[in-house]
Amino acid sequence: MCGIVGISHHKEASKMAFLGLYALQHRGEEAAGIATYDGKDLHVIKKSGLAVDNFDESNISQLKGHVAIAHTRYSTTGSSTVKNIQPIVVTHRKKPMAVAHNGNLTNTEELCAKLEEEGSIFQTSMDSEVVMHLLAKAPNGDIRKWFTHVLTQLKGAFSFVFLYQDHIIGVRDPQGFRPLCLGKLGDGYILASESCAFDLMKAEFVREIEPGEVVIIKGNKLESFFLPGAKGQRPAQCVFENVYFARPDSHIFNDNVYQVRKRLGAQLAKEHPAKADFVMGIPDSGNYAALGYAQELDIPFEIGMIRNHYIGRTFIQPTQFLREFRVRVKLNPIREMIKGKRVIVVEDSIVRGTTSRNRIAEIREAGATEIHMRISCPPIVSPCFYGIDFPSSNELIAHNKTVQEIADFIQVDSLGYLSLQGMLGVMKEKGNFCSACFTGKYPVPIPKNTDKLKMEP
Ligand code: AMP
Repeated sequence: MCGIVGISHHKEASKMAFLGLYALQHRGEEAAGIATYDGKDLHVIKKSGLAVDNFDESNISQLKGHVAIAHTRYSTTGSSTVKNIQPIVVTHRKKPMAVAHNGNLTNTEELCAKLEEEGSIFQTSMDSEVVMHLLAKAPNGDIRKWFTHVLTQLKGAFSFVFLYQDHIIGVRDPQGFRPLCLGKLGDGYILASESCAFDLMKAEFVREIEPGEVVIIKGNKLESFFLPGAKGQRPAQCVFENVYFARPDSHIFNDNVYQVRKRLGAQLAKEHPAKADFVMGIPDSGNYAALGYAQELDIPFEIGMIRNHYIGRTFIQPTQFLREFRVRVKLNPIREMIKGKRVIVVEDSIVRGTTSRNRIAEIREAGATEIHMRISCPPIVSPCFYGIDFPSSNELIAHNKTVQEIADFIQVDSLGYLSLQGMLGVMKEKGNFCSACFTGKYPVPIPKNTDKLKMEP
């Protein structure tokens, strides 16, 4: 998963792009980059790490120009190395061009093999670079022709923002796997993965880019068209964005994420009620569904665990001591609340089950007499090939364990998952979701080689 931003016309485009990245930081913490164009030159700064650590007044002011794109990375194809940080910047027919991508292409290997046969040399191991090579080979014509030619060759999940001279181009694949929103700020437009980015920039939410839609924006002029054959296809928007990934204050897939999560919790309560002294969520991701669950059954909602927001980066865990320290410091149970109580613990999802097992052990240690765990989505049984970095099937606990076996592993008194129908039933766009991670039914054929590092030398 990644976060992407495009600014079409603002005198401080790089500052706006930075604010966008800041708001979308939850979509990827590995690296952050901004590219701008000032009418003559393209400028780019991209580094490993968080946006707030990578950018300050001084380097933001070096990013001159009125158009910008930006990217925050969470890798799903390619390793976490410097060469794989976006935006990818190239010179296309003597003109500057840059791209930022959210999603995962599923036909990278085929495209790459063909391009290499024709003489292309790749600089990164990301699927996103393929697009630049295809653009280099696009037949002569206008921007619209180029992009139509290239985008119709891609398969899988892609929300893109491109910068081409004074233009910002926004794209969403025909299934609309990943979100992309359009906003208005002053004379120009903004594109961002989630609408929460607009709030920080004080921009106005206009609408979502539709599945299969391409927008070409220059200043305050916006031209929109649909990729051939895209209209009428059934969208396959990622339901896990609503369950876990997106920020609750965002409006995506025609709904507010916070309200969706509360509805998931209420539906979960209908399907798996339990008796307890209170309901708590595993912070932060479980809190919203926990609130919906508690309100539905009229059981008190309490904060049973406190999250430490000053926790360091997840990958800086060189020793077992530091790894354990991190787990303990991130969430701390409030013993006075939990001791002697029967609790319902709501979590958004279980992936490997290891974190949940640790959390439940802590709640037990804090003195809970009964623990009933409730999960606001169905069991995750299959990996994602469209942009969520789920582990392989074998590592997904629900792939080869029954609900009772999972309950035994996590050591809870009872465990209840929301049903597939229950989850999709609370969405406004009911039939328009991809739920392959819960069903193994992939709406777009998955790659032959599913290795994340398949493009590494
Ligand atoms: P666990 O009990 O170890 O499966 O951890 C569950 C928590 O990790 C839940 O809050 C999940 O939503 C969260 N999570 C979300 N995405 C991922 C992912 N790609 N890999 C692992 N855990 C994830």
